[in-house]
Amino acid sequence: MTDHPPAHTDVLIVGAGPAGLTLAATLAQLGIEHVIIDPKPAVAPGSKAAAVQPRTLEYLDRIGLAKRLIEDGVRGSGFSAVDGDRPLLRLSYDRIASPYPFLLLISQAQTEARIEQRLEELGSRVFRGIRLLGLVDEFPGSAATVVTEDGTMQVVNARFVIGCDGLHSTVRQRRAVDFPGNAPAQLFALADVVLDGGDEPGNDTTFSFSQHGMLLTSALPGGQLRIVASVPPGTAAPDESDIVRLLRDRGPSWAREVGVKSIAASSTYQVQQRVAGTMHSGNAFLVGDAAHTHSPAGGQGMNTGIQDAANLGWKLHHVLTSRTGEHLLDTYDAERRPVAHGLISFTAQLMNLAMISDRGAADLRNNTLAAAAQVPGVAEWLATKLSQLDIGYPPANPHDPVAGRRVDPRISTPRGLSWSLVAPPGTPLPEAPNDVTVTTSADVSQLIAVRPDGIAADPALASEAIGVDLPAASVAASERR
Ligand SMILES: Cc1cc2nc3c(=O)[nH]c(=O)nc-3n(C[C@H](O)[C@H](O)[C@H](O)COP(=O)(O)OP(=O)(O)OC[C@H]3O[C@@H](n4cnc5c(N)ncnc54)[C@H](O)[C@@H]3O)c2cc1C
Repeated sequence: MTDHPPAHTDVLIVGAGPAGLTLAATLAQLGIEHVIIDPKPAVAPGSKAAAVQPRTLEYLDRIGLAKRLIEDGVRGSGFSAVDGDRPLLRLSYDRIASPYPFLLLISQAQTEARIEQRLEELGSRVFRGIRLLGLVDEFPGSAATVVTEDGTMQVVNARFVIGCDGLHSTVRQRRAVDFPGNAPAQLFALADVVLDGGDEPGNDTTFSFSQHGMLLTSALPGGQLRIVASVPPGTAAPDESDIVRLLRDRGPSWAREVGVKSIAASSTYQVQQRVAGTMHSGNAFLVGDAAHTHSPAGGQGMNTGIQDAANLGWKLHHVLTSRTGEHLLDTYDAERRPVAHGLISFTAQLMNLAMISDRGAADLRNNTLAAAAQVPGVAEWLATKLSQLDIGYPPANPHDPVAGRRVDPRISTPRGLSWSLVAPPGTPLPEAPNDVTVTTSADVSQLIAVRPDGIAADPALASEAIGVDLPAASVAASERR
């Protein structure tokens, strides 16, 4: 028998995938009343996202999760592109400017299980076996009709409703938000396998280009290997002989001699590239795949959804506790939708490069990548982009060189979801509320304020949220170099 959620809540989170769970854990840590529902009886197994980016780990650390995920996963060293045994380009994460200079390789199911465990530690939980059916405005919130597994209908009144309900989002449909884009004829076969024989493929996530198509291989915990391969439309989920053939025809020499000991998961995945017309409609917000979907190239999708939740969670807290006005919520769509659009063009370019089949064009691509690898800074720039460390938001004052940018947590030293104030050494520290971390760092040249999602705040927001006046355009020395 399903137990029923409360009839009233401040925030109704629809969907307990990685985005919804992260938002729920964020609100639980901030003491905001919420309800999270999902029709699934438990975290679903299967092969979906297999990589957690450094930027995501920086946020998960704030909600008490990075350490245990890192213990569960495998520290990947970055990305490589090869053609057979010819190395073309290597994007090492070793030197990126983050406390987490690695690509954490871990299954999405394990990531979700850990976030849900954290949610329960924080005193909350997912109401499972419950699906959203309908949503109507009821000032100042919404009345959400949900149905339990046994067919019982119930209404949950919520001040805010957050659609974390994936690609086919009911919240998006009930709000009549459009979801324009396309579905390119790109099908991928996916499998998580344990191989039999052959050399260790190493800890790089490797794109192998070949005349037969693209093959991606990436380590997973438990000695498993994630395999992703472009396949013709209509192809079935790969079995053992398909996997051996894909490795033999497309991979480097280590992959040509191996067998398959076991298959943990196998599926196919049809790429869609879409961004919602808005991520904020009235009192409803769209987060994660409900708002954007794209090619899995580069391990960006789940990470982007978790960072959407990171952007929205503290804003909901500030508005519900009257720390700021409701206008703060308007910045969610303004900040996150351009990120989703940028992600789609970036992953589409990566995929188009990987899918080139014409021999002459493939030779040109390979030679260009090999040449780019020799240009100082190119590999580092790409590694920073893939790790999502470069994601920031336009400042209110276009001449402000700091506001809107990510601040390395080693500079801001946050406590959980606290704001941080960072002053240059030797300058007087400002008065701030008790829950603000105040620190000094030689990496800043003027006082900066860092939001709970790790972004340097605009002066107007810092003044409203924590009552601190920043210099009009503060400049972090590390950012100017
Ligand atoms: C094969 C594959 C490989 C991928 N590889 C990667 C990768 O390497 N890296 C990466 O970052 N991303 C990857 N992704 C993308 C990643 O899996 C998604 O971006 C991620 O799952 C999105 O998380 P989400 O929480 O937004 O949505 P989802 O994970 O889709 O979760 C949505 C939840 O909402 C629930 N729900 C749906 N409808 C309702 C309703 N009406 N009421 C209540 N609940 C509802 C669902 O049951 C589900 O639990 C991959 C995806 C696939 C399919």
